[in-house]
Amino acid sequence: MRLGLAANQLHHNHDDAALFRWLRTCGTGIRELDLGLHAVGRTHDAIVRAGCLAGHSGLCRYPNGREGGLMKLVAEVVGLPESGRALDGAIYLIDPVDPSSIFPEAVALKRQCVIHGKPFISTVASARDWIEMERIHAGFAPDPGADSLHALEAQILALIAHDAMKPQMLAYAAEHFDLLSRFARRIATGTTGQRLNELAWSRGWPRQRAWVDCYRSGPLGGDAQIADLVLERRCQRAIFFEDPHVARQHEADIQLLERAVTTVTDEAVCMTSPRVAARWAEAVRRRARGE
Ligand code: PGA
Repeated sequence: MRLGLAANQLHHNHDDAALFRWLRTCGTGIRELDLGLHAVGRTHDAIVRAGCLAGHSGLCRYPNGREGGLMKLVAEVVGLPESGRALDGAIYLIDPVDPSSIFPEAVALKRQCVIHGKPFISTVASARDWIEMERIHAGFAPDPGADSLHALEAQILALIAHDAMKPQMLAYAAEHFDLLSRFARRIATGTTGQRLNELAWSRGWPRQRAWVDCYRSGPLGGDAQIADLVLERRCQRAIFFEDPHVARQHEADIQLLERAVTTVTDEAVCMTSPRVAARWAEAVRRRARGE
């Protein structure tokens, strides 16, 4: 497996920066998985300077951002058939007030990951969660350091789906209903939440109780309301099925929520594709069963 890797400067410019916090907790997992990390220039050089991943042959260097490094990652997420260059997803540790985080190539990196059902990992917590998920699928014993990520009973989960993705969200919730019911609380944007509650009631969830607490509809500010909970550290996980193929009237709100998640990078996990969310649910089950 190969992931693109980039981090805004804040996340690699000091010893305890986010990139190094991730590499310190997940270095063993990266080696166990023999994970290819295709890192843009400055991110790569910071890793080498810090002595992380020494001797790991999967770490390779791409050009600096200004020389097109991030642009190359986008093309490889899509896949380049002539050369066989392809990435399975990308880690991009975002500092929301770094202007480069909204450069077109940064936006396109996320968008192409979503379109191709590949993981787009924008926080330290998401990166740790992804490594543990892949470790479990590869048959490694659970890492006790990831126990807190799997303590669903202590977490609040946000569920959001754009209109074209609502059928997939309902199918996902139906398939993983018991697992999603383990969370301390579920919250959602208005219409998504209403549909999810109807699903839960049809499956015997007590009528007088909401399965998921509904905030305003996305275009009316629901994403901003949920972002505030994320910033207050009252929502630790978001499953957000975006529709990348339409112009969204509330694009700013959508970006606001995504950037809120990156603001609390150690605490919040965000999953943007049904494929990744399904793979995560399966890993949670296997880990709990001790497989
Ligand atoms: P909705 O909002 O659940 O109210 O449709 C989702 C969104 O469009 O962000």
